[in-house]
Amino acid sequence: MDFKQHNNRNISRLGFGCMRFPLVEGSDWKIDEEKAKALLLDAYNKGVNYFDTAYPYHNRTSEEFVGRVLKTLPREEINIATKMPINMIKNGLIEAEGIFKQQLINLQTDYIDYYLLHAINLEGMKKSIESGIYDFLDRKRKEGVIKNFGFSFHGYATDIEEMIGMGDFDFVQLQLNYVDYSLQNAKLSYETVTKHNLPVMVMEPVRGGALTTLTPEAISIMKNYNPDASIASWAFRWVSSLDNVLVVLSGMNDQAQLDDNIRTFSPVIKLNKDEIDILDKVTHLFLQTKNVPCTKCHYCMPCALAGIDIPTVFEIYNTYLIDHDGDKFKKEYLSLTKNGGDCVSCKRCMKACPQSINIAENMKQIDRSAMSLNT
Ligand code: SF4
Ligand code: SF4
Repeated sequence: MDFKQHNNRNISRLGFGCMRFPLVEGSDWKIDEEKAKALLLDAYNKGVNYFDTAYPYHNRTSEEFVGRVLKTLPREEINIATKMPINMIKNGLIEAEGIFKQQLINLQTDYIDYYLLHAINLEGMKKSIESGIYDFLDRKRKEGVIKNFGFSFHGYATDIEEMIGMGDFDFVQLQLNYVDYSLQNAKLSYETVTKHNLPVMVMEPVRGGALTTLTPEAISIMKNYNPDASIASWAFRWVSSLDNVLVVLSGMNDQAQLDDNIRTFSPVIKLNKDEIDILDKVTHLFLQTKNVPCTKCHYCMPCALAGIDIPTVFEIYNTYLIDHDGDKFKKEYLSLTKNGGDCVSCKRCMKACPQSINIAENMKQIDRSAMSLNT
């Protein structure tokens, strides 16, 4: 396992993202604890020492579960990251103080190694400051309860400079991968954070799995160059080739993924010029599919008025754009929706989407596509 130094500690370059644990069959949030525990412990045994969870993950059960598993490991050898859910907070500082207290209980620890303001844009940063939540967490850092204080960024790249200037931060977590570098202007975000000498933690290196399910053409370009390399490993190596990246988070939910990632990071090898050129072509092909840029984070759920499983509808649609199997797509679509066209365009889900996807508009368009198929 590759490591980098940060604040006199060895941090594994591969971090375990705790948002995508294996789930109990039939549930969209209940953690399959036996499987997830085995993965966490195996990752630790193979050198992973950075574990990233958050208050809302898995219906607010992720922290408590992670705390129970990590308690069995030497505390000084692991790094725990968790986050203040700024966007969920309705009652200001008092609510945030209660959440922070509960997080220490959940994680069975008296300090957090990496603590983040969760999924914020400029508005979220202003809310953190005006509510006193930033000052409260800054005090916790001075007391040593938080070792490193940062934020995970979901906003306009042009705002990040101002956001960094609004506080004193130790790191920033960015959505970074070879597609978003241009699509979401992540290049600007990365360069701005780097200019401020703050290390970058990477989330969504494979875009919620989208960069592992590419078109056959894209896959054959990659396999022709290197038949042994997994498709995911290209994305991990791309992002690790950026010098200011400290940790790359991967939401590993099965053993094969974990083993593949461990191979990629032991040690991680920078991409050469030919490989970078290949990923430029793959990016071009990816953007041509015009898929919905959903990362399956579930922040938009539930869809209270129509009961739509939003990320799954986007997933089957994106798969259809790659495999062109209209029969399968229509069947899956109709099994997910009562009558097709269930979305009532209330747009309530859209505020929560960190990718700024126009969910209502996409739902309409997907419905038109499905219904126009003669199967
Ligand atoms: S806009 Fe559509 S998908 Fe979103 S919450 Fe409303 S009904 Fe559900
Ligand atoms: S639509 Fe947006 S909020 Fe919902 S799962 Fe996809 S990326 Fe996440």
